[in-house]
Amino acid sequence: MDVQQFLNALTPEERDLVQPGVSLRGLTTLRVGGPAALVCPVHNPEQARRFQALATENDIPQFILGGGSNILADDQGFDGVVLKVEADRLVQQGEVLTAGAGLDFDQLIARSLDLGLTGLEFASGIPGTLGGAIVGNAGCYGHEIGEFLLDAVVLRPDGRIETVGPEAFGFRYRETDLRETGHVLLEARLRLQRGDVHSAADSRAEKIADRRRKHPVDLPSAGSWFRNLPAPAPGERRQAAGKFLEQAGVQQMHEGDAHVFAKHANMIVNTGKATSQEVLTLAARMKQAVSEKFDLTLIEEVRYLSDATG
Ligand SMILES: Cc1cc2nc3c(=O)[nH]c(=O)nc-3n(C[C@H](O)[C@H](O)[C@H](O)COP(=O)(O)OP(=O)(O)OC[C@H]3O[C@@H](n4cnc5c(N)ncnc54)[C@H](O)[C@@H]3O)c2cc1C
Repeated sequence: MDVQQFLNALTPEERDLVQPGVSLRGLTTLRVGGPAALVCPVHNPEQARRFQALATENDIPQFILGGGSNILADDQGFDGVVLKVEADRLVQQGEVLTAGAGLDFDQLIARSLDLGLTGLEFASGIPGTLGGAIVGNAGCYGHEIGEFLLDAVVLRPDGRIETVGPEAFGFRYRETDLRETGHVLLEARLRLQRGDVHSAADSRAEKIADRRRKHPVDLPSAGSWFRNLPAPAPGERRQAAGKFLEQAGVQQMHEGDAHVFAKHANMIVNTGKATSQEVLTLAARMKQAVSEKFDLTLIEEVRYLSDATG
């Protein structure tokens, strides 16, 4: 692995973009984590391809980052290249929006309503980027972003840029085939509807208010820590992991500054200077409590970024 070679190969313009030693604490909503060797902001497909190729040539591990709202970064940081997707163009053609993967997802929802398009308001208030939302098939209130995807521009790990349809993602609960493959999602086309913008705006305001009541909006967190459990029978809804955690009595648990959020037992909040080790220990204790009480194994939704896992 040769970071210096990577830096030496950059043009002066590229060098101005690339940031060495940036703290992942500041790039993730949980506010935990040490430095990344290099953070490379990506605004367009060519930049993505160039940084990816240089990292591959120099044998440097890569991680793709959006808004960092579903990530626990290790205290030791990440000794590799973070491709931080910031592509943010937005073009409307009728009911179709072409949107950069780096757009703030919630801002995109607000802008779609301004453009007279409805459909995404269910997801109002989900933090992070459009790219992170699509790759993790983000959802709530019975809907998921995957329902709206027409196609997407991705950079493949072999350096090819291609447009792929929804079938390439294999959308399922909080998961797609692209989450672990190293494909960089750069742009997506979403099909929305010309609907009643006023009632969609009301619905958006309700969703945001609901989140303010139930979620840790004033404390750093990474959203739900564990995935909800499969539905007990076909056609029924998934079972909230939070209910099992509550009944297992995890609400008062904490490790240092990492606490179970009082109003939502499936969320961990950082009340000050939580370390990744404290967060991992707390999550393991929560998981253990559910396993002992219900003989169930919860599966983590939050992605752990470290030298071992990145
Ligand atoms: C308070 C709070 C509430 C939340 N509520 C919800 C909710 O209701 N529903 C829900 O689904 N989630 C929720 N989340 C979790 C999180 O906001 C979503 O998962 C979000 O879509 C992640 O987007 P991101 O850009 O922050 O992705 P990141 O956290 O940066 O990355 C998440 C994963 O996606 C990959 N990735 C990100 N961008 C790209 C890209 N362009 N190309 C390829 N891979 C990429 C990363 O490598 C990583 O594996 C919540 C989080 C918080 C903090």
